[in-house]
Amino acid sequence: MPVAFYSHPDCRAHFMGRGHPECPQRLDAISDHLIATGLMDALDAREPPLASDEQLQRAHTGVHVAELRAAMEPLRQSGEHLQIDPDTSAGPGSWQAALRAAGAAVAATDAVIAGNAQSAFCAVRPPGHHAERGAAMGFCFFNNIAIAARHALDVHGLQRVAVIDFDVHHGNGTEDIVAGDERILMASFFQHPLYPYSGAVPKGTNMVNVPLPPYARGAQAREAIEQMWLPRLEAFKPQMLFISAGFDAHREDELGQMGLVEDDYAWITQQLVGVAQRHAQGRIVSCLEGGYHLGALARSVAAHLRVLGGLD
Ligand SMILES: [Zn+2]
Repeated sequence: MPVAFYSHPDCRAHFMGRGHPECPQRLDAISDHLIATGLMDALDAREPPLASDEQLQRAHTGVHVAELRAAMEPLRQSGEHLQIDPDTSAGPGSWQAALRAAGAAVAATDAVIAGNAQSAFCAVRPPGHHAERGAAMGFCFFNNIAIAARHALDVHGLQRVAVIDFDVHHGNGTEDIVAGDERILMASFFQHPLYPYSGAVPKGTNMVNVPLPPYARGAQAREAIEQMWLPRLEAFKPQMLFISAGFDAHREDELGQMGLVEDDYAWITQQLVGVAQRHAQGRIVSCLEGGYHLGALARSVAAHLRVLGGLD
């Protein structure tokens, strides 16, 4: 079955200013490369709906959702920009983009659980893994992957799901939301020290946090995955996998100093597909997080998708 590929023009309309690395061109680079390589033809392209308040509140406080709505929705009319934190701002298209990104993660979850896709990838922005229960930060407004994981548990009645995060930055927001929720096992690696400077001490027994030093390459990441992630994932037997797929640990990416390459992303994906096939009927929902070198991002997403779709 082809990988369901969720993306939407609304996700391009979120713009945080000239020179900001989290830019609309990231999505263009991905789709251009997928089209040029013929990979797009092997995907099942779908348009995501907007997330509802109820869906957002599975991972966020009602106050957070209400405050962001009150701040961001009027920007569509006023055309103004609003600074949320030093790295994060909202403009006229940002509210719709944020709802579309979370909506994609939820729709992908529905599709994979319904069995009309084996796995799904959400090529969306804004990303989500820095967004905490009650706070937007680090280019993120709503935590797309945590919303999707909770949707699988609370709406579809799954009992155990895994969240895997291989972005170069620690997924502090996801940890804030899922730590202590024993229905979720979260496994991640991240460069440490690096923004947001958290993660070295996990906040719950359901967290597998692997800090890696600057300049760590693929071999070190693979060893960490074999020794730290895989035994926990095998023991946990997740019924579905959710991937925070950030590609900024790539050698060419300047927001981190790690040295992964496309082949490492393919290998990591293969390990996760293996876990999913053994325990989760192959069910995987993957959402784009970081990745700021446009060429490296596009090639790494392609490597990830080829393995997800069994196209190698
Ligand atoms: Zn990142």
